[in-house]
Amino acid sequence: MPFYEYRLKSGSGCSHCRDGFDELQKIADEPLTHCPRCGGPVQRIISAPAVQSGSAHLSDPDHFSKKGFTQYKKVQKGVYEKTGGKGPRYISDDGK
Ligand SMILES: [Zn+2]
Repeated sequence: MPFYEYRLKSGSGCSHCRDGFDELQKIADEPLTHCPRCGGPVQRIISAPAVQSGSAHLSDPDHFSKKGFTQYKKVQKGVYEKTGGKGPRYISDDGK
């Protein structure tokens, strides 16, 4: 199954979708229209553009830690690795 890249269309989003996220989906699956965490509007990026928009700095982990945010990226189902800020290096969703 391929990963699809999504980005937030409008609003402030959440830590999951604010800088875009990848979602593992079947090719036949309908594209997501909302963030699975916060319900914010998202759109699928069909092909990765070579030119970054002015918000590219937002995905810089240093930027996040300086601002006091903690950012995690998804490394596998239910497991997230910290890419910036304070907190545990890995968190997982199951927690059981
Ligand atoms: Zn979200």
